[in-house]
Amino acid sequence: MSDRYIDFANSFLGQRLVSAVGLASPVRLERWQAGRLRPVEGPLLLGGGPLVGQVNHFASKLTDAVFSYGPEPLVATLWIPGQGPTLKAVVFDASHLLHTDQLKQLREFFQPLLRNLQHSAHLVILGRAPETLSDPFAASAQRALEGFSRSLAKELRNGSTLQLLYVAEGAEDQLEGALRFFLSPKSAFISGQVLRLTPCATHVTDWTRPLAGRKALVTGAARGIGAAIAETLARDGAEVTLLDVPQTKNDLEALAARLGGRSITLDICAQDAAPQLIEQLPDGVDIVVHNAGITRDKTLANMTPEFWDAVLAVNLNAPQVLTKALLDSGTLHDDGRVIVLASISGIAGNRGQTNYAASKAGLIGLAQAWAPLLSERGININAVAPGFIETQMTAHIPFVLREAGRRMSSLGQGGLAQDVAEAVAWLSQPGSGAISGQALRVCGQSLLGA
Ligand code: NAD
Repeated sequence: MSDRYIDFANSFLGQRLVSAVGLASPVRLERWQAGRLRPVEGPLLLGGGPLVGQVNHFASKLTDAVFSYGPEPLVATLWIPGQGPTLKAVVFDASHLLHTDQLKQLREFFQPLLRNLQHSAHLVILGRAPETLSDPFAASAQRALEGFSRSLAKELRNGSTLQLLYVAEGAEDQLEGALRFFLSPKSAFISGQVLRLTPCATHVTDWTRPLAGRKALVTGAARGIGAAIAETLARDGAEVTLLDVPQTKNDLEALAARLGGRSITLDICAQDAAPQLIEQLPDGVDIVVHNAGITRDKTLANMTPEFWDAVLAVNLNAPQVLTKALLDSGTLHDDGRVIVLASISGIAGNRGQTNYAASKAGLIGLAQAWAPLLSERGININAVAPGFIETQMTAHIPFVLREAGRRMSSLGQGGLAQDVAEAVAWLSQPGSGAISGQALRVCGQSLLGA
């Protein structure tokens, strides 16, 4: 469903009216286009502590315009507030801020550049995870980065985003993959997120086809977010197998054919779903995306046992049973990637969704609990938690709730299926083993549960 308010707010007349009446004015976000090569098209500014030196080693692969700003400049071209070009991307290393009085460097670095950002600029702050620091004051300073970055993300305008990445000792070589994602339009609908990178032995070798040679299974792939995930994984070089219920056979087969992949029609809740799936994946699989999901909304007072059971069966039980079977049978290869589609309802809760939110919170818990157990095999498991995404699922939400869902976020709009698909594709990459047991929200920094 299209968002008519965005079209209106960006029209000649609409722009004037919206600003005169003081309404929210969401901008059209810049998204990744087929054929694009560079993650950043425009000036990238680097500043801060020692980690930014690592970024500088590969910065010229991200863009052809790298600038530095701050007391210890890294690259030849200095950025001068008021004179330098407007910025498309910014990386600030705050890992060296270990005392309260050093935190003012955040204000000193960011303040001059906030009025010099281009449309849909992407900012990243680097730090060290507080729980890994023994000095309580240092840990407190690094935790302060979280409040700073989540707040600054809410102040950014014109489709700009900001994330905080806590980089563990030894995980510095994973920064390139993370920044290729978070500084590019692939992360257009992600903002105010905090992720932890840990050391990981695998790396991407070809950034134009990071998933080449990998076999991927996507459930619920006939339409919506699942179809976009299958398309994006195929774009990135994966051999895709698309799964959905038998009723979707025609759409599923047509999409699989277009992507050069295979299709499996199967109800993931069927008694024999696990053995059937294993049988249909004789060469095994490297990437499993549990995307199939349903809603059956009612307040708990009116919730029928059928509504409760159906949602828990599809959304939570099936991913648990199928993942275990794929692991135990060796169908899921070592160095595999498992991604479960959660929801911000599973983080914030949502009226009328006790069943759905329970299932989605359960998935986040599943990723958290399974991650350390799977790390020996090099397998990572993460949850992607979409906010309001424009699909058939959200088209059925009553108008007022739908409008509220769209506008109650820093970016003031719903996301596209492509936004979720890009996050899943990134977490599927070989280097993304640096992230496991985490939940990445793709929600435009929704106010729900933020
Ligand atoms: P959708 O309803 O458009 O598509 C879901 C797909 O899953 C359908 O093709 C359906 O046939 C399939 N499916 C359902 N039950 C199945 C079963 N038993 N076996 C096999 N396939 C089955 O939904 P969507 O909006 O694309 O959402 C995809 C995922 O993202 C879901 O898990 C959903 O909960 C989650 N999500 C969506 C949003 C949103 O705003 N759209 C927000 C948060 C989370």
